Amino acid sequence: MIFLDNAGTTKMFEECVEVHKLYSCEHFFNPSALSVESLNVSKLIADVEKYFLQRLGAKGGNILFTGCATESNNLAVKGSLRSGDWEYVFSAGEHPSVYNVAKKLELEGYKVKFVPLDSDGKVDLNVLKTTLNNKTRLISIMHVNNETGAINDLDAISKLKKELCPRAVFHCDGVQGFMKIPCELRKTEVDLYSFSAHKLHGPKGVAGLYVKDKNTLKELFQGGGQQYGLRSGTENVSGIMQFKIAVEKIDEKKNFERVTALKRLFNNNLNGIKVLDFKGSPYIESLIFEGVKGETILHSLNQAGVIVGLGSACSSKKAGNRILEGIGVSKDDIVSSVRVSFNAYQTEGEVLEAARIINEVYQDIKERVAK
Ligand code: PLP
Repeated sequence: MIFLDNAGTTKMFEECVEVHKLYSCEHFFNPSALSVESLNVSKLIADVEKYFLQRLGAKGGNILFTGCATESNNLAVKGSLRSGDWEYVFSAGEHPSVYNVAKKLELEGYKVKFVPLDSDGKVDLNVLKTTLNNKTRLISIMHVNNETGAINDLDAISKLKKELCPRAVFHCDGVQGFMKIPCELRKTEVDLYSFSAHKLHGPKGVAGLYVKDKNTLKELFQGGGQQYGLRSGTENVSGIMQFKIAVEKIDEKKNFERVTALKRLFNNNLNGIKVLDFKGSPYIESLIFEGVKGETILHSLNQAGVIVGLGSACSSKKAGNRILEGIGVSKDDIVSSVRVSFNAYQTEGEVLEAARIINEVYQDIKERVAK
């Protein structure tokens, strides 16, 4: 089986299994208890926090460990709400874990504004410029789009924030960017940044939220006051330790170059298949199989041993595609599209074999349709 749905999830590094055992069966102590053993575990979590801040290129701030990036995104957005005449600004390309929160807030009476995407799949900076003002409380714009790979220009958005709404909080969903697209948060105006372990060969069930200033955020649920009172609940110690091991293994610059080359090799070996290229992340792209439904291709490829995705895994059962439609991709192309996403540990042989199978399956379906 060749797995080309790495934006949906990734295979966990085997090293994580050992770490899971160590922190579940041996160092299983509750980090909030008072024993020396618990204190040691608590120190380990503090060390992971420092390590993640360093890998994010952040100056100061804290990391909250959550159960998934969906939780991190909900905490970032809902935890930034304030009473008063504030406006909340989102890009139209956000993942459902931000977009659907924004839609719900709109229904509840909050002033919500959506900024459209440009033809490259990025947030339209001209419209953003006319949308931000001194009433803006929150800007929530993702780093890398999970369907197109388009990369938003965090420097340009930071500049607009500084100029037009310095009091606003800038949240960035970094799930498809963290450890994939080299970035240093200290060079931006990002206040909150979400990321998730299972997209980076770590375990499912653990994620993070970078918080530049704890005073900008309010907790979503009350409890024992763990993690600065912003995310109560006993920490997932084994998950956090596994997440660290996964990140330690990643060299994002080297991986970026490697995946860029893998993607180029893959695309050069496709026959008669259109590639939707947004000149963004090398990890994600869409393929258009003219005349055939994406879903048909996906199932046929699955049978032939290649796993691809259909847009966002979280919304793939829903009709239509808000993101591709928003960019202006034709209805026909959307219906015929599948998402392909790579990881940095795949071999050239694997992607060449995937391209060969994809060509063969497409040719076979076209011939059957023509009969
Ligand atoms: N944000 C983006 C951009 C994603 O791609 C995903 C997952 O597909 C999420 C958020 C949600 O992540 P999680 O599965 O950790 O909740």
